[in-house]
Amino acid sequence: MQQAYEKLGISREVYERGQQALQGLENVFREIDEIAEYNQLKVLDAMIRQGVADYHLGGTTGYGHNDLGRDALEQVYAAVFHTEDALVRPQITCGTHALYLALSAHLKAGDELLSPVGAPYDTLEEVIGIRPSMGSLAENGITYRQVDLLPGDAFDWEGIRAAIGPRTRLATIQRSRGYSGRKTFSPREIGELIRFMKAVKPDLTVMVDNCYGEFTDLKEPSDYGADMIVGSLIKNPGGGLAASGGYIAGSREAVERCAHRLTAPGLGKEIGASLGMNPSFFQGFFLAPTVVAAAKKGAVFAAALYESLGFGVSPGPRDPRYDIIQAIDLRTPENLLAFCKGIQGAAPVDSFVDPEPSPMAGYGDPVIMAAGTFIQGSSIELSADGPLRPPYRVFFQGGLSWFHAKAGILLSLQKLVDAGFSL
Ligand SMILES: *Cc1c(COP(=O)(O)O)cnc(C)c1O
Repeated sequence: MQQAYEKLGISREVYERGQQALQGLENVFREIDEIAEYNQLKVLDAMIRQGVADYHLGGTTGYGHNDLGRDALEQVYAAVFHTEDALVRPQITCGTHALYLALSAHLKAGDELLSPVGAPYDTLEEVIGIRPSMGSLAENGITYRQVDLLPGDAFDWEGIRAAIGPRTRLATIQRSRGYSGRKTFSPREIGELIRFMKAVKPDLTVMVDNCYGEFTDLKEPSDYGADMIVGSLIKNPGGGLAASGGYIAGSREAVERCAHRLTAPGLGKEIGASLGMNPSFFQGFFLAPTVVAAAKKGAVFAAALYESLGFGVSPGPRDPRYDIIQAIDLRTPENLLAFCKGIQGAAPVDSFVDPEPSPMAGYGDPVIMAAGTFIQGSSIELSADGPLRPPYRVFFQGGLSWFHAKAGILLSLQKLVDAGFSL
């Protein structure tokens, strides 16, 4: 085995540090597998009950009338997430689009949007109009209010109560930490927040940005009263196979509103060709619980290995995980570059590419990214990125198989060693 790793350029010393870091993680891995097992049964049961059939794997073109596969897939999503309905479409281009769709379908001029969990994901700043942007919600007369988290990432209950007013139409809760310093909220914690806000205002619509969170836990935010959960198919629920797409699962009314916004008023869910993507959507969703487990094992291994080398990691290897993201404070720009070169060098696609830091919209500092993926930009596949500023924190996620994630992480350490870091 060690020789097989050596062929990839990983020295005996680095390999052995990896094996040491794995010791004692058996229980953590077993727990990850148990969650995957449970979620696998959830998806299987939904597919059996919905009577998923060979003829569902065909597709439609043009208007997409009578796309039985598309309709069955949406019922499978709804059954797994325990919602009344779902919209799962290749025409939803990414997570940001799915979130914008859900927000713009529900908010009208004069309404207010509330985030009770602090700043949202970067790309939503332009959607909302926090950063001025063409077509933003702000441009359409929708105001935004945000209640920041208290120290320790606690909800500011009184602040949230005070922020809910007669114009507050919709609250958005981001589950994952994304690329921020805060913790990721568990579905249960999100449920407490939903219950609190609905007690203050019973007709408030609550949307959860579920990106990176699907299948990391036994339950989803929709099990705790969210009116809509929203995510990207090139992250967890696509299982690495979906080539594009997004989903919105929720109440019948909420999903219908979103459908009429996606296509056109009067058309709704009736149209939208699946363009040959039904097989990968079904199969990807079927594989997603085990793919997410692989990504979680990679994240746990990275946390354990880098923590054993004295780096700050978040979450820790034994902390509960409600998304697939791992942050590691690499302390120097050289380490950050070396880490990303290792992840890139272990990619099945574009392994020969040398990642370089470059300026990116929305960031004050250059950002370095590593991703050699089958699906462009897919972050359920092994990938890493970080802005070049102290503490030189890398955000690392994905891995279609645990063994690929392990190889990538070992090669990242090898590159640190090659750049002068001593074990
Ligand atoms: C990835 C992500 C988004 C945006 O999704 P894109 O597919 O990159 O547009 C939004 N919110 C969270 C928490 C995410 O992780």
